Amino acid sequence: MTTRGHCLCGRTRWRYQGGATWSCYCHCDDCRRNCAAPVVAWLGVPVENFQWTGEPPKTLESSKGVRRHFCATCGSPMGFEADHYPGGMHLYAASLDNPQDFQPTFHVNYESRLAWLRIDDDLPKYEGTLLQSPESLWD
Ligand SMILES: [Zn+2]
Ligand SMILES: [Zn+2]
Repeated sequence: MTTRGHCLCGRTRWRYQGGATWSCYCHCDDCRRNCAAPVVAWLGVPVENFQWTGEPPKTLESSKGVRRHFCATCGSPMGFEADHYPGGMHLYAASLDNPQDFQPTFHVNYESRLAWLRIDDDLPKYEGTLLQSPESLWD
């Protein structure tokens, strides 16, 4: 199975084979500002199953060991990699070609959520980030 995603202008595209390793919401301030959105929905895939297609993204090292990929033309956030999550590419669920297919399964950094954002799901809600790579948690 191949899953695909793209940016606003369509020049930057990605695909991965197989399933996502995890899928969640993040309520942290960094994700929120990076996307200018009240909460960010993420999925993680093994980087060896992942390819950029179309134009390659630009990359910002937003802090040491943290790389944020974005479309060079339209600026859409497109991916996240970090030395503390080795082997994982983090992708934005809203970039999926079919974002309706996404199924989040937990929240992280829930203590940082915006008070005016109403979410009434029954998913697990964690404070802070998961210290280990989420990949390792779901093995
Ligand atoms: Zn674009
Ligand atoms: Zn975050």
